[in-house]
Amino acid sequence: MRYDDILGKLVIIPSKSSEINGKCPYCLGNENLDKPVIVALVSDGNILKKVYEHTESRDWKVRVFESEKPIVAISNGKVSNENDIAYGYHYVLALTPDHQSPCKLPIDQWINILLILQDTIKLLYTKKGVSYVAVYMNNMKNSHPHIDIITFSKIPPAIEKEAESINRSTIDNGTCPICKLTNDSSERSIFEYKNFIAICPWSSKHEYEFMIIPKRHLSHFVSLTQKDINELALVMRVTLGGLYNTLQHSNTSNHDEFNLIFHLPPEKKQNKQFHWYIDVYPINKIQNVLASEFDIHINELKPEEATVELSKAARREFADLMGIR
Ligand SMILES: [Zn+2]
Ligand SMILES: [Zn+2]
Repeated sequence: MRYDDILGKLVIIPSKSSEINGKCPYCLGNENLDKPVIVALVSDGNILKKVYEHTESRDWKVRVFESEKPIVAISNGKVSNENDIAYGYHYVLALTPDHQSPCKLPIDQWINILLILQDTIKLLYTKKGVSYVAVYMNNMKNSHPHIDIITFSKIPPAIEKEAESINRSTIDNGTCPICKLTNDSSERSIFEYKNFIAICPWSSKHEYEFMIIPKRHLSHFVSLTQKDINELALVMRVTLGGLYNTLQHSNTSNHDEFNLIFHLPPEKKQNKQFHWYIDVYPINKIQNVLASEFDIHINELKPEEATVELSKAARREFADLMGIR
């Protein structure tokens, strides 16, 4: 990862990773293609139990493991120490053992997912060099439903900005802007259940964009109780299912393609002012969630490689123009 200190943007130049031919590595039965489990929920008779590192079981419901295509790393020869902004952990949370749409998963499965997600975030914040844990889902047709969980040694610029803006607004107006939004959005509420509300934001950036917000001021997702998780799982399942149907009726071929981003506070700052929420919007064209939501840009082509190609092209162009070929 490199830092553009003129624009204040972080840029990741990922290392190339090998492909796994023809087989989905996240599917049940293909665990040998993945990295070892970090945490998973497995069936043990009639009950589900959590298992941690290296206690592999085939009968899993939710499974977290290191990404096979990590965009940050703790050791790949490219990161020198934990202050390096490319230092971090990239985990994948497989939402289901098969390719069921996340919009149509049972609510119980969403509860399982959210509980394991809480555990994983807590675990990552205990590790060195973790300033921020980014959580998002980039759900694409034909790809295994999963959540990406990526840590950064610096707080992503967009999150820093959002936290500052929530702070400032709270001080200036005496009330949290997200609390205010939930109170003022009754005409844009799409679903409400106990402690959670889903609304279409007034200034939606995307068609069919919606936010899922805890109604009481709550700074972090990890502090949700089991009861909160049950309610949130229901609201997520209902609204995602609604989105799926809406898009299907509007004849959108990619009705199962959406981004879902957890807007979580920068933990180390103990930001009590922050009010966490989830943002969801369908994918209309190729978009990069990290770029649009975290202001972290993925550049597949190394600038050095680009330089070689561009300078070669420039020299050829120059020669043509001067007629020296
Ligand atoms: Zn799969
Ligand atoms: Zn609030």
